Amino acid sequence: MQASAEMLDWHGSGMSVMEMSHRGKEFVSIYEEAENDIRELLAVPPEFSILFMQGGGIAENAIVPLNLSASQSADYVVTGNWSDRSQKEARKYCQVNIAASNEADGHTRLPAPASWRLSTGARYVHVCTNETVHGVEMHELPDLKALGSTAPLVIDFSSHMASRPVDWSRVGLAYGGAQKNVGPAGLTLVFVRRDLLGHALPHCPTAFNYEVVSSHQSMYNTPPTYAIYIAGLVFKWLKKQGGMSVIEQRNIAKAQLLYDFIDASHLYTSFVAKDCRSRMNVPFFLREDKLNDLFLAGAREHRLLQLKGYKTLGGMRASLYNAMPLEGVQALVNYMQAFELEHA
Ligand SMILES: *Cc1c(COP(=O)(O)O)cnc(C)c1O
Repeated sequence: MQASAEMLDWHGSGMSVMEMSHRGKEFVSIYEEAENDIRELLAVPPEFSILFMQGGGIAENAIVPLNLSASQSADYVVTGNWSDRSQKEARKYCQVNIAASNEADGHTRLPAPASWRLSTGARYVHVCTNETVHGVEMHELPDLKALGSTAPLVIDFSSHMASRPVDWSRVGLAYGGAQKNVGPAGLTLVFVRRDLLGHALPHCPTAFNYEVVSSHQSMYNTPPTYAIYIAGLVFKWLKKQGGMSVIEQRNIAKAQLLYDFIDASHLYTSFVAKDCRSRMNVPFFLREDKLNDLFLAGAREHRLLQLKGYKTLGGMRASLYNAMPLEGVQALVNYMQAFELEHA
């Protein structure tokens, strides 16, 4: 709403945000406000630099080892499709040690941190804190110090960024594409502890060197200005809702409504262990695959969209990002209930 009202003339400047120079005072004020708002919202400590980059989570899979690995080794915990892709990409730049994997469990439960085989000398430990495809979420970040490791923890939190508070004392670097939970595609947010800057490999592209990006306030190259502006509006909206603890409670309530219904039903199943079920992405399956098309067609008639599961996993997936209200989840549950009665 606000974006459309301001689309052609931002705050009486006579310009659309799209027309602004990224170095002009109008855009710089938009950028600084967005940075301050996300810092306040997520309570990011001053020892972290916040970078507004491009390339998405997938590019970060390469950019992280290019900046942190020193061509040595890194530990990866595989908990689903996305962390598996991260470790495969990192192999181009460093030695990868798989500290733990839940592949044998079909990515349905999390290996306990106490069982991780962390290696000495690893430059960092990488985890995906919310597996968007498999619906597995770490409700608590691992405490590497308690596990005897001094390596920084790197988290891919693309799909649950700003859905709950972050314990920064356990994090060295966090990254995520904006498009899942905080804004439009094209913007990637990176939160990096400043002592990790300045270790990039010589062949790391300059535009992807965290120290260069940080020292130029994300303006070494042209940043995705319009995406930053929209993300800034989302940060303001999140603040107005009451901030992260209110948003987290809301997300817990939404997820519980859906999981409770699934657990009580005879038609739908969730395979993910209860202690690590994602609040953002809920994969579920119908008892018979042949009902899938019928289920999706009926859902579309009820204006319930985007429920088809990820291509490699099948079944259904409901994504309950911040923008989804409780009433939206209730509408889905009502439809699922009616469908079950009809097809029991
Ligand atoms: C979507 C997603 C990515 C990939 O993001 P792109 O922006 O497409 O590069 C990476 N990691 C996780 C956890 C994701 O959900």
